[in-house]
Amino acid sequence: FYIYLFNFKITLGKNGVPVAENFRLEQSTITDTVQAGQVRVKTLYLSVDPYMRCRMNEDTGSDYLQPWQLSEVADGGGIGVVEESKHENLAKGDFVTSFTWPWQTVAVLDGSSLQKLVPRLVNGRLSYFLGAAGITGLTALLGIREKGHVAAGANQTMVVSGAAGACGSLAGQIGRLEGCSRVVGIAGTDEKCSILVQEMGFDAAINYKKGDVAKQLRELCPGGVDVYFDNVGGDISDTVISQMNQNSHIILCGQISQYNKDVPYPPPLPPDIEKIQKERNITRERFLVLNYMDKQEASVLQLCQWIQEGKVKVRETVLEGLANIGAAFQSMMNGGNIGKQIISVSK
Ligand code: NAP
Repeated sequence: FYIYLFNFKITLGKNGVPVAENFRLEQSTITDTVQAGQVRVKTLYLSVDPYMRCRMNEDTGSDYLQPWQLSEVADGGGIGVVEESKHENLAKGDFVTSFTWPWQTVAVLDGSSLQKLVPRLVNGRLSYFLGAAGITGLTALLGIREKGHVAAGANQTMVVSGAAGACGSLAGQIGRLEGCSRVVGIAGTDEKCSILVQEMGFDAAINYKKGDVAKQLRELCPGGVDVYFDNVGGDISDTVISQMNQNSHIILCGQISQYNKDVPYPPPLPPDIEKIQKERNITRERFLVLNYMDKQEASVLQLCQWIQEGKVKVRETVLEGLANIGAAFQSMMNGGNIGKQIISVSK
């Protein structure tokens, strides 16, 4: 018997707030037969990510995301170890990953759907391949390189929203490594803000739940904002955009403050903010990391090198047990995480 996690009542309607009870845990049996080309894997780590909120709707709003079906096993980023292999390139003991890993403790998967991992690249911290050395790290690095227009020596100020999360915490550090002279984060607690400054090398951080964000931003970015790594959208982003310079750039990474609402993606800016964006010639092009997967290999190596050299500091929030994955998703959507939210399924 193996534990399966089925998603339950996933169709919240576009204006619903997801909760742990949208998922349920079930025990089931899986076939023990591994066919040619397949492997049996034990799941080690799973990832919960904001895009999964879109998969809870009947219409995800994007052609690259399929909705989760009621009472079917949910899936997402995962890492596991091969226990039995009938695939020519995979052997027992290999560590592997996939973007469509089923939320199960054990699974039989097509070997061709898996990528082999090299643990030493992340000092043995395998779960980093779901975060800093995986999709989140790639999102931060490629978002900055493709849409940020960051140039060493150009004296640019970068602002990052959702700054203490998986993408945001890396984006600020990578912005600095790529040449920004000043990096300011916006996050939801004092603890997050102090980690950003003391551990991750941000120049300053603003707790958006306290005080006047516009005033603090004006004080902390006296030369205005040149690059804005936007993870959240909504009021926070309107405030930042109002303080952006002529010919500056928004990296439109995500808009998490709008994901529980019935709005298109990317949500249009309010008219007064859109006027500022146009008058100041601020770029705001949609960024999707999946469009740059030809750069995945070289970019992952770059991220691993920075991690090994200590140039990028990594934080994770780890919850143990498949049974807690719904709770981990709900917590991450509500700011309960610092760095990447990970579920540790088995040792
Ligand atoms: P994350 O930042 O680790 O976790 C989500 C964070 O969002 C929470 O910790 C919370 O932190 C913040 N948040 C939640 N509701 C908010 C609100 N109403 N206003 C402001 N902040 C809010 O998640 P992630 O995986 O790194 O994703 C961050 C963003 O990147 C998301 O928008 C995601 O969709 C996007 N993304 C885009 C791509 C791409 O290809 N474009 C790829 C991956 C991720 P606080 O405590 O600060 O509120």
